[in-house]
Amino acid sequence: MLQTLVHYFLHFIFIGAIAYWYDKTNWKKYWLILLATMLVDLDHLLATPIFQAERCSIGFHILHSEYVVPLYFLGAIFIKHKIIRLVMIGLAFHMITDFIDCLWMLSKCGNCAASEVFRGI
Ligand SMILES: [Zn+2]
Repeated sequence: MLQTLVHYFLHFIFIGAIAYWYDKTNWKKYWLILLATMLVDLDHLLATPIFQAERCSIGFHILHSEYVVPLYFLGAIFIKHKIIRLVMIGLAFHMITDFIDCLWMLSKCGNCAASEVFRGI
């Protein structure tokens, strides 16, 4: 329950604080842009089953893969265009949020190895 609350708080509410930090005058517009980065989860539609409660997204879904995630962080650091950079920040923070969820799952998983939680990596 707490894990779910923290996860969705980070995905939907905390990004409002990021938007405010990013630009105090246009933070509502930027919050909406950060909310739009949730579309990265559309890659879940390619998985079977589409939703699986104890599955770690990081390394499993294509837009959460180890090939793409570094690009979000690099983009957040190096892209100069303000909106594209914000999208990259949103995607990078999305991956951090999902990664926290994976670590939480691992901590609850008594005798399973990290490789069982992080199946895709
Ligand atoms: Zn995700």
